[in-house]
Amino acid sequence: MVKIFIDPGHGGSDTGALGNGLKEKDLTLTIATNVRSILLTEYNDVSILMSRMSDETVTLTQRTDAANTWGADYFLSIHINAGGGTGYEDYVYPGTTAPTTTYQTNMHNEIMKLITLTDRGRKSANFHVLRESHMPAILTENGFIDTSSDAALLKSASHLDKVARGHVNGLVKNFNLTKKVTATYHTVVSGDTVYALSIQYGSTVQQIKDWNKLDSKYTIIVGQVLRVK
Ligand SMILES: [Zn+2]
Repeated sequence: MVKIFIDPGHGGSDTGALGNGLKEKDLTLTIATNVRSILLTEYNDVSILMSRMSDETVTLTQRTDAANTWGADYFLSIHINAGGGTGYEDYVYPGTTAPTTTYQTNMHNEIMKLITLTDRGRKSANFHVLRESHMPAILTENGFIDTSSDAALLKSASHLDKVARGHVNGLVKNFNLTKKVTATYHTVVSGDTVYALSIQYGSTVQQIKDWNKLDSKYTIIVGQVLRVK
């Protein structure tokens, strides 16, 4: 079981950055909860703890204490930038080595593959959550709330979905997460005509040859149902 601690930046009385009618604390929670639900729905053997699940005030020390006490394998802190720039960047603690740097490269590349923001590069900074967490940690800055072109993307649900999916893909690469079996359910009755049966594991479709194993969990492609219990 891989334990991922997800930290939506700011919250409650700490709004984080503001701009273009957006609040950083809302965007970080949206992205973080999306990352969490994708991981729990689609992947095996992953456990998630969030520093907050709603709009509440949580101190930086409470965040790192929670991750350290839980014994997280990875600390993922999600933020939105401000200050008049544009683009995506991420941070690790200065001087950190592998696997933290390898994880950063994977997260960075997987996120950049899916979004259209400018690539500002992989960086390091002495941030509390990176310094005080006792496990590999990353902080992502997902565009500038006070730059109108970045803010336009941050207002788009499909962009935020891509941001979340990019974070997930990075985590999948870092921890070799495997996809849950997706079963397609069909109702069949004796005498139905089918030609083949398959079951899908992630992107792999396995052909089912033992016709006696036929049950409603298998996808019917084509063949004949001789017997249905
Ligand atoms: Zn922030």
